[in-house]
Amino acid sequence: MVKKVFKYKHGQLNTPLFFPDATKAVVRSVDSQDVLNTKTPGILVNTLHLYLDLGKRVLKKFGGIGPLMGWPGALISDSGGFQVMSLAKKGSGKVTDTGVSFHLNKKRKVLLTPEKSIDYQLMLKTDLLVVLDDFTPPGASYEEAKITVERTVAWAKRSKAEFDKQLKGKKDKPYLIGVVQGGYFPDLRQDCSQRLSDIGFDGYGYGGWPLTQDNQFDYESAQIIADNTPKGSWLYGLGIGKPDEVANLCRMGYQIFDCVLPTRDARHGRLYISADNAKGYEYYTPDKEKHYYEDIPVDPECDCLLCKNYSRAYLRHLFKIEDLTAVRLATIHNLRFYARLMEKLQVEYLK
Ligand SMILES: [Zn+2]
Repeated sequence: MVKKVFKYKHGQLNTPLFFPDATKAVVRSVDSQDVLNTKTPGILVNTLHLYLDLGKRVLKKFGGIGPLMGWPGALISDSGGFQVMSLAKKGSGKVTDTGVSFHLNKKRKVLLTPEKSIDYQLMLKTDLLVVLDDFTPPGASYEEAKITVERTVAWAKRSKAEFDKQLKGKKDKPYLIGVVQGGYFPDLRQDCSQRLSDIGFDGYGYGGWPLTQDNQFDYESAQIIADNTPKGSWLYGLGIGKPDEVANLCRMGYQIFDCVLPTRDARHGRLYISADNAKGYEYYTPDKEKHYYEDIPVDPECDCLLCKNYSRAYLRHLFKIEDLTAVRLATIHNLRFYARLMEKLQVEYLK
């Protein structure tokens, strides 16, 4: 039996679900009400960024990141594993079995451990926590990938122990997700999936770089994770992805996704619109001259603030004069595009 309902503090949601990234407790260029109005049911915040930028005191006062943001929907916090890879492995820090250390600036050295990550995520009071993992970087050799798997499994054990210790005897615990690493090496992905399953999590994340050596989406690794984790657990595509990738993974049993794409693309003037092609969408960019005078919505099928009220010509004008409203409207549109995509997939999923 596959889980279909995601429980959170204020209710429950049908799956599959897409969580756009509110990395530093804001979806850039829009506020929580804007996000709610796109019928986006949940958002993701980043543990490492908030640990560094926000700290604990304000979270204690507000009782979590949701109340601080005025966000009543579902919330996920990620582990910081990806940021750790970017920061530490690019020379500004060090990954050891203890955790990850790096210099934020000349005065401040930071050590993030699996236990600290869980502790901080519990203070964020998110509905789903992700354990700290050691990200297998793209291009890693077999030996390098194996080291990240060993460390990921060891950290997962410590994370689970900390989670159990802090929430002992408590009801309504948040979900805890283990992250599968191992790059594009099938036996490493299988081994990591099985060992994390032995520890026992509410779900399992497709971690690391989801592309093959030929730069194609790596569905094989996704399938190995689905095949080697207990049925009925969550399957989470971390940082995934494009609409067609999300749809394909849903059909493989994945139910949870987060990604920066819809909001990042919006900031760069790249909007997703419905299309009658195999992928079901195409990109619309307001900078093409043929759109300068068009008195039609960006996507006639969309019911967002932008498409219901403004023309392509006006959006193009706003981008041209670099007014912040252009990015806000484009972000709202892309969030609504993903929310509509998930609404369609939920109907497909429930059949
Ligand atoms: Zn729209």
